[in-house]
Amino acid sequence: MTNIVIFGAPGSGKGTQSERLIDQYGLHHISTGDVLRSHMARGTELGKIAESFISQGQLIPDELMINILADVLDSNPAATQKGVIFDGFPRTIPQAKALNELLAKRGTEVHAVIGLEVDDEELVDRLIKRGQMSGRSDDNLETINKRLTVYHSQTSPLRDYYMTEGKYKAIEGKGSIDDIFNAIKKSIDQVSR
Ligand code: AMP
Repeated sequence: MTNIVIFGAPGSGKGTQSERLIDQYGLHHISTGDVLRSHMARGTELGKIAESFISQGQLIPDELMINILADVLDSNPAATQKGVIFDGFPRTIPQAKALNELLAKRGTEVHAVIGLEVDDEELVDRLIKRGQMSGRSDDNLETINKRLTVYHSQTSPLRDYYMTEGKYKAIEGKGSIDDIFNAIKKSIDQVSR
């Protein structure tokens, strides 16, 4: 059982690589972005709150986001036994600390953080293309720029946080999907249990 955080800026390939990792390792996928978009599509109260932040390129406040993640873990008790890919969570230091606590309570931990490293110019290119195909409301140039600013100020400090914990595995995120996946597999195979 291995718990992995797939980490990187918006557009770095977290979703694409998560899909492959699920197939390869049989892990349970938790994407907080998908959870929020599902609430938005169903028009729930939480969906309305999420929409107001997502459309501005801002993060959902930590306390709310941590409660949402705790609920997801509670409703999938088998997930942490099987191993989880956390995709899009944590995005702040308080979220990372909360994740450590949530997993410790379940007798487990984050085993590796796979950091997909891609430069901003490439990220913007990819997100604009994704917006044209997916129609995601936050994949427009103005919101993309805000999301990247938020990423650099609030999320990228997690790189050092997980480096200090000895868990951060830097992966060159530019290149073919297959090559990136093979590099990720090598890192995971070193920590798999
Ligand atoms: P994603 O699909 O991971 O790119 O997430 C889309 C949007 O959902 C983000 O730009 C945030 O507004 C929100 N979001 C997703 N995960 C989180 C999180 N862990 N903390 C705060 N906001 C989040």
